Amino acid sequence: MLEVETLGVTYGRTQAVKGVSLTVAPGEIVTVLGANGAGKTSLLRALQGAVKPASGRITFNGRDLTGQSPAARVKEGMVLVPEGRQIFVSMSVHENLLMGAYLRRDDAVVAEIEAIYERFPNLADRRNAQASSLSGGEQQMLAIGRALVARPRLIMLDEPSLGLSPLFVDKLFSLLGELNRDGIGILLVEQNTTMALEIAQRGYVLELGAVAIEGTAAELSADGALTEAYLGGS
Ligand code: ATP
Repeated sequence: MLEVETLGVTYGRTQAVKGVSLTVAPGEIVTVLGANGAGKTSLLRALQGAVKPASGRITFNGRDLTGQSPAARVKEGMVLVPEGRQIFVSMSVHENLLMGAYLRRDDAVVAEIEAIYERFPNLADRRNAQASSLSGGEQQMLAIGRALVARPRLIMLDEPSLGLSPLFVDKLFSLLGELNRDGIGILLVEQNTTMALEIAQRGYVLELGAVAIEGTAAELSADGALTEAYLGGS
């Protein structure tokens, strides 16, 4: 479904991503791990279309999206849930969900948002509340809900568990499992290596912008050197 070939991202003289190649098959959960500064966010921003890659190619369902706008990628079914959630705090929960539908004009949006409220009853109860009044965990659910309104085939998440209580981390990971059972592919950047490798089928470890190790989640979990060598002992 997603094919990334030798992608490079540079900021001035900094080469944040150096020739990264990765794939996500339909319905697969793939995790990207790595220490702070390894290039994970830069990789996702290039996949989203927010930064222009210096080199490489991004193909999604056979279409070359490398030069396409972020909006075009959302229309194709690739949606990013950014680091720090980035919901619109001064808008209501409902308005945030409507923002997820800005590229869609069809009547199905109303039904889609109702389905999201069914999935997240906490959000339904608070639909008219200002988003800033939600807890961190609820804000993360809102950010994911907003992404789902676009009916993605692939959701990319940048450190979604960051700052969440253990209860919400559990909820988050079970939600990702549910979405995946519904047929949505997931590209998950995580600090929580253990949980990411539990849920993912495969993973890539980035070091200084390049893929240092890749393998099945089982292979990566069994790699004792991985945590110490590449993840800063985290
Ligand atoms: P973190 O977990 O801290 O978010 P990361 O793995 O996501 O780290 P990036 O944020 O992609 O890594 O950063 C990769 C490298 O690119 C780092 O050296 C960082 O300092 C640099 N970098 C990131 N964004 C910019 C920018 N806008 N301008 C210049 N350099 C940047």
